[in-house]
This record gives sequence, C-alpha cells and structure tokens, in this order.
Amino acid sequence: MSERIFIGVAWPYANGPLHLGHIAGAYLPADIFARYHRLKGDDVLMVSGSDQHGTPITIRAEQESKSPQEIASKYHQQFTGCWQKLGISFDLFTTTSTANHAQVTHDVFLTLLNKGYIYKDKMVEAYCSRCQRFLPDRYLEGTCPYCGFPKARGDGCDECGKPLDPSILEDVHCYLCSTPARFEVVEHFFLRLSAFQDRLKAWVKEQSHWRHSVLSTTWKFLHEGLRDRAITRDINWGVTVPQPGFEQKRIYVWFEAVIGYLAASKEWAKLHGDDTAWQPFWQGESKSFYFVGKDNIFFHTLIWPAMLMGYGGLNLPYNVPANEFLTIEGKKFSTSHNWAVWLPDYLERYDPDPLRYALAAGMPETGDSDFAWDKFVQRNNNELVATYGNLAHRILTFTYRNFNEMVPSPGVLDGQSQALLCKAETTLGEVDRALQRCNFREAIKYAMSLAQESNRYLDAQSPWKMIKETPEAAAKSSYTVLSVLSALKTVLYPFLPFSSEKLHTLLGFAGSVKKAGWKFEPPVPGQKIHQPQPLFIKLDDSVIAQETSRLGCISY
Ligand SMILES: [Zn+2]
Ligand SMILES: [Zn+2]
Repeated sequence: MSERIFIGVAWPYANGPLHLGHIAGAYLPADIFARYHRLKGDDVLMVSGSDQHGTPITIRAEQESKSPQEIASKYHQQFTGCWQKLGISFDLFTTTSTANHAQVTHDVFLTLLNKGYIYKDKMVEAYCSRCQRFLPDRYLEGTCPYCGFPKARGDGCDECGKPLDPSILEDVHCYLCSTPARFEVVEHFFLRLSAFQDRLKAWVKEQSHWRHSVLSTTWKFLHEGLRDRAITRDINWGVTVPQPGFEQKRIYVWFEAVIGYLAASKEWAKLHGDDTAWQPFWQGESKSFYFVGKDNIFFHTLIWPAMLMGYGGLNLPYNVPANEFLTIEGKKFSTSHNWAVWLPDYLERYDPDPLRYALAAGMPETGDSDFAWDKFVQRNNNELVATYGNLAHRILTFTYRNFNEMVPSPGVLDGQSQALLCKAETTLGEVDRALQRCNFREAIKYAMSLAQESNRYLDAQSPWKMIKETPEAAAKSSYTVLSVLSALKTVLYPFLPFSSEKLHTLLGFAGSVKKAGWKFEPPVPGQKIHQPQPLFIKLDDSVIAQETSRLGCISY
C-alpha cells in the first residue's frame, strides 16, 4: 500500500556557500529518503528553500556593501545549481522572500494571535546611539562569561559554542561601531510557548520511534520548562508584522522560517495548477519528516509542533531524524578559518556520486563523524570502483563480448547461483527496512555486502575460464551476476542516482530506475546490453595531498 510522505528540509541561510556539513546533516539524507519513497511508489513532497532573512544575511550585506536581497539572491542561485549537480531532488526549493511566504506567515501569525497564543509584551532591547538602531543579538559583541572570549556575540559564543543571552555578555557593545550598547524597554509580540508545555510532553512521550539523541535533546528542553519567546524584532529586513504600530518591526526569522514548510507546500500546489494539492500532505493521512542538523532540533520537535497545535488542523511531525555534526579531518567546520570543503568547489572538480556515497556511508547518524580526504579516496577506490564498479564492468564486458551483446539464457541454476539470487532478493528487503527507519549507514552496508558476495561468487565461478569448454556454465554465472546488478542499481539508487541510472541503461533496461520502481527485476535472456563503460573513476592518491593542502585556504 502506498504511503504519503512529506519531507521538509532545513532552510539554509542564503549568506554563504554550502559545505559538506550541511549536506551530510540534512540535504543528502532527505534526498535518499525521498528517492527511496518515490521508488516504492509513495506520494512524496520534498520542499525547502533559502532562508533569505535574519541577521547573518544583513551582516554579510553590510560587510560587502550590498543589499540583503543581492546577497540572498546570489546564494539562492548558487544553492539551486548545487542541488542540480549533486542530484538533490526537491519538488520545490523556494525562498522566504516570496509574497506567498509573507501571506502564509501572516495567516499563521494572525490565527495564533486571535487564539491568544501570541500576545504583546515589553522587553529590554539593546540600542546603539551612534548607529541609531536597535541591535539584534547577532549585532552585539562582548566577552563570553564562560570562556572569556572577547568577541562572543549576543546569541552565542563562537569559541566555546555556548548559547548566550545579551544580558550575560560582559562589556557588551555594538558589533558594527564598538559603541557600548544601551538597553531600552520596547514592545514586542511573544509566542506563548509555555501554554503548550503539557500538550508537547504528552505528544513527545508517544514518539518512541525518534532517534535517541533527538528524544534526549527534546526532553532536556521540556524538563527545563518552555518559556515564551519574542517573535518580532526591531529590524527592517524580514516579513512585516501585520499589526498597526509595528510597521518598523519585522517577524523574527526563527518564527517565519519554519512556516516556510507550509508556505512552500502551498506554492508547490499553485505551481502544479491545483491550489489544494498541498492539503493531503498536511491534513490527510500523511507522515511528515523533517531533516535537520542537531542544532535545529528544538525548533522542529517543540516550537514548530507548538505553532501547529495552536494553528490547528495540520499534521504534526512524524519524525525529525536530526543528524549530528560532521568534522573535517578531525576539526570542526569553521567558515572564518575556511576549514571546510565547499560544495560548489567540490562539484566543479569531482562527480556527485562518490561524495554522496562517502557521506552516506559515514553519515553522522548516532554521533559526530569525520570527513577525511584519504578516507574519501579509499571509499571511492576500494568500495565504489573495486567492489561495485568492477563487478559491473567485468561481467558486462564479458557478456558483451561472449554472448553477442545479449543477456544469456541461464539454463538450470545451481545451488550457488540460486543462493546469490536469493540474497539479492533478501537485500532488497533489508535495505527497504533500514531506509524506512532512516538508518542510512545500515542500508548502504547491506547493499555493499551483496556486491562483495557477488564478487566472491564471480571469482569462484570464473566464467572466463568456462566459456570455451562449458559455455552453458559461463552463461549461468553471467546471467546470475547481471541479475544481481539489477538489484544493486535499485537498492543503491537512493544513494547513487547517477550511476544507478547509467547501469540501468547498460543492462539494457528501457526507461529509468525511477520509473521501474523498488523491485527485483532480473534482465530477460536475450535482452540487449550496451557497450560497457566504467561506472566510477579511480582517483589517484595525489588527490589526498592536493585536497588536504587546500583546506583552510579556499574561501568561497
Ligand atoms: Zn553602532
Ligand atoms: Zn565562550
């Protein structure tokens, strides 16, 4: 029975290029999951967009003497180019600058206001008398009370990683001009998060299928007690506040960015000529998955569910399979130190599938994991090229040359061949169950273990030795391995879409893997195969030194 699956992926800030941490954290697992469900014949809607608001963008704009929209548009364009090259298959990747997004945000805001879940109150806010502006947290600089770092920001310390509050920063001053900040009492709107504490507790208790780390982070916040939070700011870049007297303020970015999931779904429906097409994913029988990094758990397991509960009539998240962080060569990503592998830079020089493979096989699902170039080259050469690519290339070349470019008739299969075909069938089920549970590393292991088993089978059978004396034995083993390859291109399609489609064509199947669906379909004897081409390219060991030396030097 087919399912309906909504996939929301964290909205990247359009203030800088994507790096591998973003990809391993949210975009790749979301795409693997979406491709898998589409293959199963499920109805999938996967959306996201660039987050064009918030102070990271205005700060970047001020640094580069550009308008925030210029900065946001530049990176939005870069993002969409990256998705295409890496094969991240969004149904819609939009932005938070659209009129639709503002309209949906206003609707949610006003509904929550009318129901009493949003209220007006006073708070203290920092002001710079020299710049004559209020200073959002990110615009405040001071000394971190925990580690003494003198350049900590109002929202957190980049040195020790602790989240901060402007009131606990020492020597707090304007980030732009260093003038000491003045604190003033101002009026803002607040989300009554505290009103949802009990409902959220009861709801989270039912989510035993969530990852352990996601549950423990969520419970930590619940045990501390949820506090109401300001949802408007004194800035001029963002979604307007639909209330008189608030013309100079904007909605806080964290409040409107999560609404983006709903807005993007509505935009997708309009673009597809059916304004109501979003409803089955949000109001009907459908499961909502949110792929985010671990720093985003709070917003997706508590804040967004509270907003949805308050709004009413929309599906709550079914799962938030948040990933941990990816380090690079043992060190934390750092944009300021250029300690990153930038995605556009990678994609200019290498193929997408080896990166998708390396990141999926080492995905930070249960703990932080590390990306290192020597490991990347090893995975490419030993696993993709030697185990999988060579298996395909050896048997396709052999069949092409010896069986008149056609899949041979296997005759009666012996026990060993039957056992391998049986394993192919079993692998389909194992990968299926692992992907269903968002266990991506486990899924890829099952798939590669089938490829390893097939290599052992092929070495034992050695059809190239049999072809002269007993061509029927060579035909049987060729057929068997070609059949296993057909299973491999299916189970590996969510991870390696480009090479899977290539192998599908080489094996002589019509159409695409995407159309063929999630099933084990051995080729038909007599099926014409195509002239073999390698699926993957072996990388020279010099890549390791070359890429490692670029770390810390390449900015994007
Ligand atoms: Zn200032
Ligand atoms: Zn600190």
